[in-house]
Amino acid sequence: MRLFSCPVCQQQVYFDNSACLACGSEIAFAPDVMQMVAVGAPDGAHRCCVQRTTSDLCNWAIEAADPIERCRSCRLTGAESVVGADALRARAEAAKRQVLYTLLQLGVPFAPKMGDDDLQGLRFVWTLPAPGGAPTFTGQQNGTITLNLNEADDAHREATRISFGEPQRTVLGHLRHELSHYFFHRFVEGWPAIEDFRATFGDERADYSAALEQHYQQGPRADWQQFFISAYAASHPWEDWAETCAHYLLMVEAVDTAAAWGLRLASPASPPVQPGDAAASAPVERLVLDQWLPLARFLNAMSRSLGLPDSYPYLLPPPVLGKLRLVQIALTEKGRSA
Ligand SMILES: [Zn+2]
Ligand SMILES: [Zn+2]
Ligand SMILES: [Zn+2]
Repeated sequence: MRLFSCPVCQQQVYFDNSACLACGSEIAFAPDVMQMVAVGAPDGAHRCCVQRTTSDLCNWAIEAADPIERCRSCRLTGAESVVGADALRARAEAAKRQVLYTLLQLGVPFAPKMGDDDLQGLRFVWTLPAPGGAPTFTGQQNGTITLNLNEADDAHREATRISFGEPQRTVLGHLRHELSHYFFHRFVEGWPAIEDFRATFGDERADYSAALEQHYQQGPRADWQQFFISAYAASHPWEDWAETCAHYLLMVEAVDTAAAWGLRLASPASPPVQPGDAAASAPVERLVLDQWLPLARFLNAMSRSLGLPDSYPYLLPPPVLGKLRLVQIALTEKGRSA
């Protein structure tokens, strides 16, 4: 995530800000120019997304000439999403804007689903299980990403994380994971080179429900850390793809953030990443080994100094690097030609 500045007074502002704390100007993030813009003036080039004044608290802008009232992020939220649960929904919307920012930077295309038979479009549906009713699950199908909003509730999410024995569980991570399933559906499924995928991730035609059942009953294979980014990734090639691709999105954003802040921990031989470089133009080995791993080690050391758990409790063994390479190809090359 880049650093942003107030368009009026040039003071530093964050991606989430809707006002400049220094001069009080009303500001919004404009995805068409990837900058913060002033939205106070009625004759400006941008206006506010209509969801700014609702409980969704959207801080994105729309081009003044655009007839649609909702921004590029809010128009992805399905009308069937739960109403109420305002604080949880606002957190989910904020995480969605953050991950969409990474997609915009990478040049990965996305557009709202135009109907249930539009298999290319994307839609986010926020759900909550009714009290005493059936549980709702987080998942992705044909471009519809469903998030159980309880995942935005800290106490609920942490209890779930502990019960599954996961090192981390975040709303942002959920959205990256489910979006990654969508990217598989969108960019990989019809690949002429699907054999490349199968050689790297395994055969995705393996029985999915049987694989998950086995995972939850018996756990992952004992040596999973040598081959997979997470225990869950070992359950089925689809989940391996989603977990690995989610980590790719995480790394791209984190390396970009470090570059924006001028934090330089890479080995002296490697060229520095420029802010806004999307980090994705670097070969994946350089991104991981020269840029991300030094940062991750630093972050873990700093977390321990602060008395917090490791910020990045994951290993990246060589087979995972090979998988990340395929993810990068799918998102950059296929994404741009889609
Ligand atoms: Zn300002
Ligand atoms: Zn919006
Ligand atoms: Zn999944």
